[in-house]
Amino acid sequence: MDQFQYVNPTKLIFGKNQTAAIKDEAAQYGNKILLVYGGGSIKKSGLYDTVMEQLKAIPDAEIVELSGVEPNPRLSTVNKGIQLIRENNLEFILAVGGGSVIDCAKAIAAGVHYDGDVWDIVTGKAAPASAVPLGTVLTMAATGTEMNGNSVITNWEEKDKRAFSSIHTYPKFSVLDPQNTYTVPKDQTVYGIVDLMSHVFEQYFHASENAPLQERFGESILKTTIDVAPKLIKDLENYDYREVIMLNATFALNKVLTMGVKTDWATHMIEHAVSAVHDIPHGGGLAILFPRWMEFVAQTKPEKVAQLGIRVFDLNTEGKSLNDLAAETIQRVKEFWASIGAPENLSDYGIDSREIELMVERSMVGDTIGSYVPLNKDDVRTILVNSL
Ligand code: NAP
Ligand code: FE
Repeated sequence: MDQFQYVNPTKLIFGKNQTAAIKDEAAQYGNKILLVYGGGSIKKSGLYDTVMEQLKAIPDAEIVELSGVEPNPRLSTVNKGIQLIRENNLEFILAVGGGSVIDCAKAIAAGVHYDGDVWDIVTGKAAPASAVPLGTVLTMAATGTEMNGNSVITNWEEKDKRAFSSIHTYPKFSVLDPQNTYTVPKDQTVYGIVDLMSHVFEQYFHASENAPLQERFGESILKTTIDVAPKLIKDLENYDYREVIMLNATFALNKVLTMGVKTDWATHMIEHAVSAVHDIPHGGGLAILFPRWMEFVAQTKPEKVAQLGIRVFDLNTEGKSLNDLAAETIQRVKEFWASIGAPENLSDYGIDSREIELMVERSMVGDTIGSYVPLNKDDVRTILVNSL
């Protein structure tokens, strides 16, 4: 293992009817609040009314709303939020939604305290020194953003999607009531499952030695997800299934799996490039790209791919080479995602080879990306072409 420090300041408030905790939690940070939400799912589900009731019960509450945060949240919306906080001297942000709403709120929180363009923070040119405190009410199991400091923002004009991470943008609290995910449609539920599994892969395929506990944690998340996800897809309002997937998604990216290891993240970087150019759902892009990434790295490093198959898919090893086992593992990953309805090729989204070069360009930060097998531009191009 490498040396590491671990801090996670987010208070997780998990379980049935826990939205009732919002008032007391939010009140600790002030009564002038920016409520951030998406395209209206929380109005349809009734969650908006529940949250408003909680916020209005805070003495002298002043609530300003920022609605319409897009899936793949945009820089322009982040800037609107920053302006609303500055104009109204707001003290606290409550984000109610999926990863996009929460990521947007985090960028707003960091941007308010920064004099320059918030895009500097997103691209890593500047690091936030502080942020407006924020809390979240999660409505979709997927990103893990509810218990980490990450935020992913799209600059639509530049066709660029970038991620930043800061200790200052961890939510102060996150309310996770699995009932709030009942209304997530089947396709989005599938994307969330693919995203959470991909987060485990990004950390499982690390470039460090001797991290057996971290790997076994990751394998547990994958195994329980593979067990429950097919049942959930057939029974979207089942509390027990929603609950397991929700906690799995949180643990897949609350950085427990990252302790002491150099994680990869190349597939996420390539996916961000694809969705910056074509605006496709994040989990859909990952379902297409991850098996191709595994095929690429297995050519030189099949061991870990084989280990994944043996431990998570219970592959029979008799008479098989590492290469056979790696190939079988990748086949099982593909089959599992196809079985729950995930897309398999970029052409499923109408993406062809025309903008490959732009996507290669946008994937790169420096000469190589990833650490399990560092990828150069040619490698990224190969993975994208194999994904068409
Ligand atoms: P999302 O983009 O937040 O939401 C996708 C769609 O699901 C939206 O149309 C949303 O509608 C709808 N939705 C959410 N909750 C719902 C509910 N309870 N009922 C019905 N519909 C619901 O999806 P996401 O996968 O959570 O977030 C994706 C973003 O997170 C991407 O930009 C991705 O790159 C990023 N990401 C972040 C991290 C991180 O650690 N920060 C990690 C991985 C990915 P409404 O808009 O109407 O609510
Ligand atoms: Fe992700």
